[in-house]
Amino acid sequence: MSETSVERVVIIGSGPAGWTAAIYAARAELQPLCLIGVPRSNPAPVLPGGQLMLTTEVENYPGFPEGVTGPDLMASLQKQAERFETRSRMVDVTHCDFSSRPFALTTSEGDVVKAETVILATGATANWIGLENELRLATSGGGVSACAVCDGALPVFRDQPLAVVGGGDSAMEEASYLAKFASKVYIIHRRDELRASKAMQARVLEHEKIEVCWNKAVSDVIGQDKIESIELTDTVTGDVSTLPVGGLFIAIGHTPATAFLKDSGVALDDKQYVRLDGPSSATNIDGVFAAGDVADSIYRQAITAAGMGCRAALDAERWLAEQE
Ligand code: NAP
Repeated sequence: MSETSVERVVIIGSGPAGWTAAIYAARAELQPLCLIGVPRSNPAPVLPGGQLMLTTEVENYPGFPEGVTGPDLMASLQKQAERFETRSRMVDVTHCDFSSRPFALTTSEGDVVKAETVILATGATANWIGLENELRLATSGGGVSACAVCDGALPVFRDQPLAVVGGGDSAMEEASYLAKFASKVYIIHRRDELRASKAMQARVLEHEKIEVCWNKAVSDVIGQDKIESIELTDTVTGDVSTLPVGGLFIAIGHTPATAFLKDSGVALDDKQYVRLDGPSSATNIDGVFAAGDVADSIYRQAITAAGMGCRAALDAERWLAEQE
């Protein structure tokens, strides 16, 4: 399609939500265009395909009884979308003009893509502490992860002492989950007070396998191919200690990829996630839909993102039919 033509459906993002939206839109003969994003490595790696590109084994995505690696799963979703003639471009969207139709999306290559409907599926990235060894072992399957529900049940973490960093609800939830498999779970928190709700706090503080290390920051991750221990620095005294662990789970929040929506008029919630209009995938802007982690701060699973992508494509298809 030429630059001046108008796409029927443009999907921004290429994680499970984006590719699933593409599969459904393509099978509805809407010839979707997927803007898959440009890889970058700073401050933490971000790849087309999203967070699953940074995980190794995925054991909880239905349909794969033996498990599947994150990159293989994403390659399969892309291949399936392309089989039905989804087109893709490796560009970021730097600006969205939703003030008139067709919508105008400026890309990182400087051109403008025009679209009748847009599905926002740019995801959210887990926040990392930012230590070199943390990021190295996270990307090489070395026992550092930002998702206990995704990775915690892997055999490599069983019957091992594990550490969770963070003091919010996610950290409490991850620690409780990991305590089912681990020999011991340490929560590493930088203050002497947890941010999590009282109910979630109670679950971990009363748990015999969970111990909170107060006023501690992880200052290094030790291990060549696999984590062996973490270096802790006391945030009050500055004392440095070492804690042997077989896995490290970072639960210090997520950042939704919505910066490119600044000034677009798309309503965001107080945490900067896209706000959906009721139970559908519609945003506050007619013809703009959202799916996956960019609009979901709660579930954040590949399968829930894929389900949302399906809904967004069906909503876009119905919306286009209504316009006609
Ligand atoms: P959060 O509430 O923002 O908590 C993040 C935690 O990470 C805080 O304790 C913070 O410490 C710590 N932290 C941030 N940056 C850090 C750094 N660089 N180094 C060390 N620690 C750092 O995030 P969340 O726990 O992911 O929760 C996000 C939202 O989802 C919340 O609204 C939460 O209630 C909700 N949620 C609900 C449930 C549930 O109800 N089942 C489960 C999960 C999440 P400080 O406290 O010192 O700032």
